[in-house]
Amino acid sequence: MNYPFEVRSLPYTYNALEPYLDEEILHFHHDKHYANYVVKLNEILKNYPNLQNMTLDELLIQTDELPSEAKTSIRNNAGGVYNHELYFACMNSADCELPTDKLALAINASFGSLEHFRSEFAAAAINQFGSGYAWLILSNKKLEIIATPNQDTPLSLTVKPLLCIDVWEHAYYLQYQNRRADYVENWFNLINWDFVGARYMSLMKKNLTVEIPQ
Ligand code: MN
Repeated sequence: MNYPFEVRSLPYTYNALEPYLDEEILHFHHDKHYANYVVKLNEILKNYPNLQNMTLDELLIQTDELPSEAKTSIRNNAGGVYNHELYFACMNSADCELPTDKLALAINASFGSLEHFRSEFAAAAINQFGSGYAWLILSNKKLEIIATPNQDTPLSLTVKPLLCIDVWEHAYYLQYQNRRADYVENWFNLINWDFVGARYMSLMKKNLTVEIPQ
């Protein structure tokens, strides 16, 4: 998919993530915050016809091809689109679902156990200073946990994101106020492990793009 980018619908209803994430949060987060990044990205790309055939992940990876005066605004807005699309896709309403098969084995190999993965991931999300994201990434085919500020993405030719949590205040403040740790803890109940497991399997293969399937 490329220019003009379109706002993707949520893959579930707005109240599907309750009680962990309120309907009101999902409306603001998807309809206002995420949608605004799509609008802004299209506004920028309107002025650069030669960039309009690039996909979202190409805009974020092939930054050498971007004009210097637009690099920052493209990174922020394409990042805002990519990060939100992955964040929304990584959640669903099925309670207590667990990672399976090869992803479960890889999590155990990299972090010792699912419980240890959860505590490391939660620490990355809680300790990210200010706005940003915590990520489970494939870096040269190894699982790692990292955090990024603002709308930066970890995308590169060798780094492929599997899962992310948005820790901007708009992601939780209406329901959790300053209690980011409670939001992160509850959010683990929302992880769509089927999606993350399928993504892990496809990104372990060579030469696949990091585009987020709809
Ligand atoms: Mn957000």
